[in-house]
Amino acid sequence: MKKSMFRIGVVLLLILALPLSYLIIKQASELTENEALVQRVFDKQLETILFTINQNAENLIVAWINQVDLPLNARDEIMSTICEELVAKHHALKSIQYFNIVNKTPLLALGGAGSELPKLNWPDSLPVDRMVAYLDNQYQRIESIREGEYVHLYFVLKSAKTPVLCAFTIHAKTFIEQNLRPGIQQISQDRFHVVIRDSIHTEGNLLSDSLSVEKTQIHEQSLWYFPGYTVMIGLQTATIDELVKARSQTDRRIFVIIFLVVIVGITFVLASIRKEMRLAEMKSEFVSNVSHEIRTPLALISMYTETLLMNRVKTPEKRQEYLNIIHHETTRLSGMVNRILSFSKMEKGKRNYHLEEIELNALIEEVIHHYSPHFKAHMVHCTMELDEAACQLKADREAVTEVLINLIENAVKYGREGEKKLMIRSKCTHNQILVEVEDDGIGIASKHLKHIFDKFYRVTQGNLAHKAKGSGIGLNIVKEIMEHHQGKVLVESKPGVGSKFILMFNQ
Ligand code: ADP
Repeated sequence: MKKSMFRIGVVLLLILALPLSYLIIKQASELTENEALVQRVFDKQLETILFTINQNAENLIVAWINQVDLPLNARDEIMSTICEELVAKHHALKSIQYFNIVNKTPLLALGGAGSELPKLNWPDSLPVDRMVAYLDNQYQRIESIREGEYVHLYFVLKSAKTPVLCAFTIHAKTFIEQNLRPGIQQISQDRFHVVIRDSIHTEGNLLSDSLSVEKTQIHEQSLWYFPGYTVMIGLQTATIDELVKARSQTDRRIFVIIFLVVIVGITFVLASIRKEMRLAEMKSEFVSNVSHEIRTPLALISMYTETLLMNRVKTPEKRQEYLNIIHHETTRLSGMVNRILSFSKMEKGKRNYHLEEIELNALIEEVIHHYSPHFKAHMVHCTMELDEAACQLKADREAVTEVLINLIENAVKYGREGEKKLMIRSKCTHNQILVEVEDDGIGIASKHLKHIFDKFYRVTQGNLAHKAKGSGIGLNIVKEIMEHHQGKVLVESKPGVGSKFILMFNQ
């Protein structure tokens, strides 16, 4: 049986556990790949957001440039009105100044209301010639120079009649606060933290200061046209790394649970198969035991009847002895058949119980009396200690008799060699009746005790099963009958000392 169990176990393992383990390993590696993929996508997303912020800033500046880049003379009245309006409208734009590129002289300077900005000089550090050349190729390059909190943006006008260099002086902090913040808020949508920092004057952030810089997953980019300013972005809640890790952890936990469930399932299936196989084995043992048990009395009956029929018996005493043997074996045989029939009925749930008022002490005395020749033959010294009060019980007489017979026959069957003792006690209380059947026989090892009431179970140790014949259903019948009477059967036993079976009837 062990071999086939092992084979079934291996097959189950191959069918279930191996593909599952493969799936789990595959999923785990896919998870790591997914993690990396999500990470890359997320990085791209953050970079795109930063790019969008910069793009917004550039669009604004270009829009301002387009307003002043008109085919007008810098000294025109209308030009100064446009510039005045632009400066008045945008607080961040502090002044607009024009330079003649040819002779590098200032043409027009317009400051915002109350502006105390000094007039700008010609920016020697800038590659103005190259900016003009770019313009010939339709590219208006914007150059920036930082001066403290201000940024000067220089560009060559496309539409001016003579080459003109224009400069916007922008207050960076105001520009970020007033012109960039709304767009950033729209982008972040409570999901991201966006921070703009001045890396030259590092005290505090220019925009939002809730971003903890220790957090991973922060991306940064310098703010175009604003030297020294950086824009940073990070997740408001957990970092993507933490999110992905949490997801993968949940997935892994689910895999482990599934794996454990499968292992428990396999163990359960194996245990059930093992139980079924053991039952099948016991059934086949039962059939062989029963056949063996039936064969012996049948052989004796047939032998003695034949002798009697052939008139070979000389004396009437011998004749009487043979008849006694035939009677004894017939009783034994019918007892055996009855037990099997009653077991079979119980198995099918077809056994009927006819409850009636019985006096248990009287019933015990009756059974013992009936068994006295049997006791004599097997050197059994039987004593009874019955309760003096009448033990009245509502039960099926035949079934209770069967219980007593099974226990008494076992006490004799599994008794010690030679003289044996058998003690039967009864105790009655108002709500319980106890019957004890105690012997001084071979006893039962504790590891068998919990199984002896199972069907077909026989203690095979020390070849006991071969010495004492039996079918392994007697105690199972006892248990079933007791349960039908709302009672139970208990056993106390010690190998080599004896056994005590206790019947407990609840009134
Ligand atoms: P069996 O036909 O084998 O006697 P039972 O169901 O009556 O079947 O008993 C189950 C097993 O319990 C027996 O095989 C025997 O080993 C053990 N057993 C039952 N009664 C006794 C007893 N009085 N003393 C020792 N062993 C016992």
